[in-house]
Amino acid sequence: MIAIENILGNIVPEECIYLEITPIMQKKINELHTFTFNAFSEQTYLLDHGNGEATVFDPGMSNVAEREYFDSFLADNGLTLVGCLLTHAHLDHVMGANWIASKYGLLPRLHPSDVPTWDMAEKSAQLYGIPMDPLPSRGEDLGDQGSIVECGKFNLEIRLAPGHCIGHVVFVCHEHEFVIGGDVLFNGSIGRTDLPGGNASTLAHSITEQLYTLPDSFEVHPGHGPSTTVGKEKAFNPYVNSEGTGMIQ
Ligand SMILES: [Zn+2]
Ligand SMILES: [Zn+2]
Repeated sequence: MIAIENILGNIVPEECIYLEITPIMQKKINELHTFTFNAFSEQTYLLDHGNGEATVFDPGMSNVAEREYFDSFLADNGLTLVGCLLTHAHLDHVMGANWIASKYGLLPRLHPSDVPTWDMAEKSAQLYGIPMDPLPSRGEDLGDQGSIVECGKFNLEIRLAPGHCIGHVVFVCHEHEFVIGGDVLFNGSIGRTDLPGGNASTLAHSITEQLYTLPDSFEVHPGHGPSTTVGKEKAFNPYVNSEGTGMIQ
């Protein structure tokens, strides 16, 4: 199978390329905004709390234009940024962390299991020859499996979903039926598992236990590519079988 490699995201099989032109799914809520940033087409999410405040997830803004765009979006929508959360610390998901810290005074919150990934991010950027600001200090550690992060009216449950990297988490909003999923499950694909800390069977287990156990209607908003639903991926994802027993085909 010929694969197109997205350096830190997914491996998209040739027959899945058409998915990139699938119209972006209408989200269940209007408060979750998607930005596609940096050389890896990473998706940074902004969750509007509904009270004038907002949280950024996986800040990947990498240059002046992307940062000005993000800044203007906040200003145009009257939003004050109050939180910065990470699904994981691959460089494409943290390239804007220094800027967020200095501009808004917010330190990124990561699950402690993913500190080894964080520690490698700047070195990875050097290996790829990609300019990256030094990482800031980290904020308070994200809580463990099942703990809740409050983002205004949205309560997000933290679920550990390793396999793409060692300490990846997904954020699940049960009330509004969506997941901010990072690089675990993509529309028609899954996160790559050949980077340090990656493991294919661990990833399959994470998908079946942490995502496929959610109702089919739940939306998954990934770190790369179009959004999807749990039901669609359970039915059609070629990498995790429909029985949900974790077999990667
Ligand atoms: Zn990524
Ligand atoms: Zn990643």
